[in-house]
Amino acid sequence: MITGKNYIGFEVSAKGDTTFKTFNPATNKENEQLIVEATPQEIEEACELAADAFKVYRKMPGVKRAAFLLAIAEGIMELGDLLLDTYCMESGLPKGRAEGERGRTVGQLQMFAELIETEDWREPSKNSAEANTRKMLIPIGPVAVFGASNFPLAYSTAGGDTASALAAGNPVIVKSHPMHAQTGELVALAIYNAAHKTGMPEGVFSNLNSQGVEVGQQLVLNKYIKAVGFTGSIKGGRALYDLAATREEPIPVFAEMGSINPVVITQKALETRSAEIANTYADSITLGVGQFCTNPGLLLILKSELSSSFVETLGKKLSKKPSFYMLHPNIHAGYQGNKNKMITHEAVTKISEAELSSVPNTAAPALVTVDGAKFLKHDALHQEVFGPFSMVVQCEDEAERIRIIESLEGQLTGTIIAEKSDEAKLAPLFEALQSRVGRVVFNGVPTGVEVCDAMTHGGPYPSSTDSRFTAVGIGAIRRWVRPFSYQNVPKSLLPEILK
Ligand code: NAP
Repeated sequence: MITGKNYIGFEVSAKGDTTFKTFNPATNKENEQLIVEATPQEIEEACELAADAFKVYRKMPGVKRAAFLLAIAEGIMELGDLLLDTYCMESGLPKGRAEGERGRTVGQLQMFAELIETEDWREPSKNSAEANTRKMLIPIGPVAVFGASNFPLAYSTAGGDTASALAAGNPVIVKSHPMHAQTGELVALAIYNAAHKTGMPEGVFSNLNSQGVEVGQQLVLNKYIKAVGFTGSIKGGRALYDLAATREEPIPVFAEMGSINPVVITQKALETRSAEIANTYADSITLGVGQFCTNPGLLLILKSELSSSFVETLGKKLSKKPSFYMLHPNIHAGYQGNKNKMITHEAVTKISEAELSSVPNTAAPALVTVDGAKFLKHDALHQEVFGPFSMVVQCEDEAERIRIIESLEGQLTGTIIAEKSDEAKLAPLFEALQSRVGRVVFNGVPTGVEVCDAMTHGGPYPSSTDSRFTAVGIGAIRRWVRPFSYQNVPKSLLPEILK
């Protein structure tokens, strides 16, 4: 079933001679299957087909597009263990996580299918006495999606970006993530079969392989592409954003990038339940080997004897957590390098670092601490360490804690751990966080992003390139549409919903 080839519309294609292999972090070996990188000609073909498909697909009734999304979900489930095993083989993640992520992927497709069964999501408005003007949201055009390394299913080939863009009526071209190209191909096959089964136009979906930046860059520069979805590093997201702005016709790039997700713990909360908070946060910091964009990388507490003992307890709990494989040797090397930079920084004190396992590609959790004033002085300490790492900032007082929050770059989330009796004094903290993040969590953990209507997964730059939008939940569809007005347009040309 896995060919290593590209899916260009309804063709399986391998015109190039640049090949690569994916990697199994658990066996520390390359996987056998050769993957063939897409050529410039194949990229152009995929884009031309997408532009042609758009003319038909954008006009298809919502129920037909919904049937397509549901058929993709069905196809993904039918791949059964082959998909789960390939996922594990290319990511080193356990099968339980693969199953959970598959459930989320299928759930997202079903959620968007339900949304578009009626046309209400287009926000039709038709009240204009004088000029007879009506308005609704229409699809933007072919979308390029960059699969995420840390979500091989839920934020990759048929993940949230693809599902929401297809739901809105846009063809999608995926630039498959090179770390899980085989998983991507299996999902592309499910989409290809679903497109055939439900009568979709050729070019509604293509899947391109690559292991270098060139394919993605050519895709973003192609004149038929009208928007880009991306999940990954700030460096990658920003490069694509800048590239899109150099086009003769600039296009939006919705990139969801790094975040250190500050967590504020009040003194009263520490007095009441220090051990419980340490337990919860040791779990959250190490969940998925810390490879989540919502990983709590920064804990903000007030300096006291109690806070010192909390830091010790959290350090001990982290040092007892077992090491586990990271997604890829490059991500592992990135973690080692960035963690070491933090640990050896002159302003920082190491609290704990679990013993490095001799098993290759595994990550040892680590905790460091720093004084508030020093954190404010050294911007280098604000950087994300992608992996099971966190930094505790011990602040002189509440005013310094708020100054620190205000000095942070944009974040996906901010968390407040507090007691009921703190509530009257929390407004300044809450407001400081609100100005820097897309979601505030009370008495919980930022990891675990529920797919629901009320979710915002995005935030001020650089956590995302456009803080007005979410990458998770129903609202994600708004990235791929534009408002369109019909002024005095004859009834025969109006869409049903505006008549
Ligand atoms: P990445 O380097 O940002 O790459 C993501 C995708 O974008 C890949 O398909 C990559 O293509 C492409 N890309 C990157 N730079 C590009 C450029 N200049 N032009 C065109 N395409 C470009 O992320 P990654 O591979 O997933 O992981 C690397 C690091 O990113 C991690 O170690 C971590 O620090 C960070 N990361 C953060 C998050 C988060 O949510 N905060 C999530 C994932 C990763 P090629 O690989 O083919 O070059």
